[in-house]
Amino acid sequence: MSRIKHASFFASMVGVLGGLAPHLLAQGRQVTDADQAAGQAWWAQVKTLADDSMEGRLTGSQGYLRAAKYVVSQFDALGLQPAGVNGYYQPVKFDVTRVIADKSSVTLLIDGRKEPLVLGRDAIIGARGIQPKSITAPLVFIGYGLHLPEAKYDDFDSPEMPFSSLKGKIVVYINGGPGELSGALKSFARTSPLAKALADAGALGSISIGTPKSMDFPWDRVAANASQPGMRLAADPKDAAVAARHPALADLHGTMFSATFNPAEAEKLFAGTGHTFDELLELADAQKPLPRFDLKKSLTASVTTENSAVESPNIVAKLEGSDPSLKNEYVLLSAHLDHLGVGKSVFAGAMDDASGVASVLEIARTFSKNRERPKRSMLFVIFTGEEKGLLGSRYFAGRPTVPETAIVADLNLDMFMPLFPLKKLHVQGLVESTLADDARAVGAAHSIEIAVDPEPDRNSFTRTDQYSFVQAGVPSLAMKFGWTKDSPEYKAWRQWLAQRYHSAEDNLSQPVDTAAAAQFDSFLADLARRVANNPGRPHYVESSFFHRFEK
Ligand SMILES: [Zn+2]
Repeated sequence: MSRIKHASFFASMVGVLGGLAPHLLAQGRQVTDADQAAGQAWWAQVKTLADDSMEGRLTGSQGYLRAAKYVVSQFDALGLQPAGVNGYYQPVKFDVTRVIADKSSVTLLIDGRKEPLVLGRDAIIGARGIQPKSITAPLVFIGYGLHLPEAKYDDFDSPEMPFSSLKGKIVVYINGGPGELSGALKSFARTSPLAKALADAGALGSISIGTPKSMDFPWDRVAANASQPGMRLAADPKDAAVAARHPALADLHGTMFSATFNPAEAEKLFAGTGHTFDELLELADAQKPLPRFDLKKSLTASVTTENSAVESPNIVAKLEGSDPSLKNEYVLLSAHLDHLGVGKSVFAGAMDDASGVASVLEIARTFSKNRERPKRSMLFVIFTGEEKGLLGSRYFAGRPTVPETAIVADLNLDMFMPLFPLKKLHVQGLVESTLADDARAVGAAHSIEIAVDPEPDRNSFTRTDQYSFVQAGVPSLAMKFGWTKDSPEYKAWRQWLAQRYHSAEDNLSQPVDTAAAAQFDSFLADLARRVANNPGRPHYVESSFFHRFEK
């Protein structure tokens, strides 16, 4: 909370100064005819990728493959080199699980009394991991569920609830964390450390509760998306080698119950404990410490799933660098092609992430037309499986198609949200590596303010493909159009999340500032070129927690 307060205080000061000395501030560039034309070319790509004929580009679907063929045809037409395994393609295998809610049940057991829960209304069962067919276990509340011994913070091991006491239990936690931990660190703890802590403690499962503040869209949409197939990377002979090099990228293939509880119904979990969810929510919203305690009830569940397998490729294209030695190193520009497929209607995913793929294609065009090649090689990488948990990028980061140590940076684009003029960018990973200096320098040349994410509790840092590279120790950035709290731009962003994010309304009939998108592409092309031309490689800064993953 303190971070957010400071950010808005600073922003309001900038506003005051802005009235006095506008030339000191990032006001964005004038929109030129060239921006307009480039914006139209970008939008034409979005229209193709988010067309109904692409059927929402679900990982492994015919629609996805059709979109992938289009992307390959574009790379080929630009004269780029295929840099996958089969030409431009890097095939990825997935195990698929669909939870059949009608044939599953979840019931609370309180003093021998049964209180059945309504799946969809009260809770949803997770589809990403391997669910047990049936389970009965006591419930315990462990605060924020953060396991960060490196940062001397551990909800899995407290005097009131020691690590050894979690064996055989289902742990319940609230998404969020105390103010003293950075947003990136809290987000990190929700990924591999959580899975590992659950397994190491011998817990049988976990239930997470989102706080209304941290939820991007209403519970109804969470429940509607619960019938989406969940996916995992299929077990692979190289798994052990990848896990040995990058423990953070290791996949756990064990059975673990997981569910998400509707915060509006969460009081049911806390009844009879002397605590209320309301009281805990207030503490969580204030980023204060949470108590840990026995929930004095058990949960019994039976879970029916349909299981299958699919293959779906990443796409990799290369533009060779001009320097005889630096051309053996690579700067990655990436975005994800997959989206949510077809529900009641097509999930077009125009912003998520046809917009990012369109930008990669247009930036690749800029590079290929320019006679002056960057010194390092550029690798344009389009991922599958992002919506299923960053799986395509995880696979690529662990099994890159170029030598692993030759990847110097990843610049990732995932719904960068050109809904209004470009004056500011919110950048994920900004405080972690020297890429921040490059972003700030290029931002200054483009009159764009470069800022950290003012909403770290949304976990954006770990919710987009650059995070797979962070876990592999590669300096990485991801960015979105920024705003000032409570401005019209902020309202447009929140409105977009509430109305369109992961809904059928993220389609081609939404208002988009195409000229601003083109200005963003121009910024990113310059940033990529600068990183590719710098004599030295970017690196993590000593103060970054993620420094430890760097090789
Ligand atoms: Zn998405």
